[in-house]
Amino acid sequence: MKSMKVLLLQDNPFLCSVIKTSLASLGIVDVIEASMGREALSLLRSKGAVDFAICDLKLLGTDSLMFFGCAAKEGFLKSVMISGDADSVLRQTASALLKTLGLKCLGGLGRPYSSEKIRALITGIGFGEVSLFNVGVKPELPGITEVRRALLDCEFSPYFQPKFDIQTGRVVGAEALARWINPRQGVMAPAAFLPVIESCGLIDELFRAIFSQGLLLQKKMRQQGAIALPLAFNLHASQLSRRNLINDIAGLLAFYELPASGVTFELTETGALGNDSVALETLLRLRLMGCGLSMDDFGSGYSSMGRLCELPFTEIKLDARFLRDGDSQSRSLEVIRASVSMAKAMNVTLVVEGVESAEHMTLLRSIGCQFAQGYYLGKPMAAESVVSWLPLRAGGA
Ligand code: C2E
Ligand code: CA
Ligand code: CA
Repeated sequence: MKSMKVLLLQDNPFLCSVIKTSLASLGIVDVIEASMGREALSLLRSKGAVDFAICDLKLLGTDSLMFFGCAAKEGFLKSVMISGDADSVLRQTASALLKTLGLKCLGGLGRPYSSEKIRALITGIGFGEVSLFNVGVKPELPGITEVRRALLDCEFSPYFQPKFDIQTGRVVGAEALARWINPRQGVMAPAAFLPVIESCGLIDELFRAIFSQGLLLQKKMRQQGAIALPLAFNLHASQLSRRNLINDIAGLLAFYELPASGVTFELTETGALGNDSVALETLLRLRLMGCGLSMDDFGSGYSSMGRLCELPFTEIKLDARFLRDGDSQSRSLEVIRASVSMAKAMNVTLVVEGVESAEHMTLLRSIGCQFAQGYYLGKPMAAESVVSWLPLRAGGA
């Protein structure tokens, strides 16, 4: 682990020394200590930024809130671990509060404190791939002209993240996730370009690029005598209101001579559709063609229960936050459990997103969840890698 600098905001000297001992066993000895927010802020101003802070939950109710706001704004701090005894709901509220201040909550460090717990939470600081999950990461967005040029130059390609049947270990499909293969900046994730694509009305162009390259992969697999991997594509709900969407999809499927049953469309923010009759008709026609329809990010934002009842979804993707919080937050765990039985009762497939550890797998298996996706199971990969990776997985995990 690289040498890190930590701020310890704690008013109990004994607990302070316990946490410092755990940090020291991880090789973290650069620790700034403070018992109040004001003191912490002046220390950061004189000693510079830290990698993360460990803050006692009860101090969040004091002047520490002002401190966190200032420390985030002034760039001294990005991530916080919460220590102290508190029930899971309080911790979750604290986490939401930190988020509003522009900080990432790494999770709760309940007692007894240990270096292993700290090490596990540190991994959440995330030096990896840029993702919308990486709260607080604000990439500098490219200009409209640059994005248009990149679309014309075919610089956007799908990466494919496998979806697993975790009861058997088999790959049951993959989700196509847009990437900009930027000749100067390398592989860029959607957080770095999707806002520009959406704001300048290029989302349909991006979709056509991703969808046709996905179908090309299916076609190649078929030509090699393999069964084409079922693929899921992301659609923004607003795209459903464009009458030509169905023609585009049907036209490309016909061009590649592929069945509609091999594709699923994942939709976010369907609650925002209101009673848009064109959008509802598009959904119906996609289902009648034989495509799957998945409600993405279920349990967050606009993906509501009401929409699930009204619209012809075949799949629900449970937002990763429930699994992420499920380790310690019993309410989140109950949401996962309830979603498993609700999906069974409604005869739709449930896919849990964000599987990041063996513990997540054990948990999901134990509550009877069948399908899942996440970095622990397989990261998004380029088409060439899928073709070489899949046969290695053929016998199941
Ligand atoms: P999403 O559809 O919810 O996709 C899942 C995101 O979570 C992906 O991020 C994926 O790389 C990431 N992810 C998967 N497993 C894990 C995990 O275990 N841990 C963590 N921390 N992250 C995980 P990505 O590729 O950055 O995409 C972000 C979002 O951008 C997607 O969220 C989707 O809403 C949107 N998006 C991606 N491709 C397209 C596209 O072609 N069209 C549209 N309209 N939206 C897209
Ligand atoms: Ca998705
Ligand atoms: Ca999702």
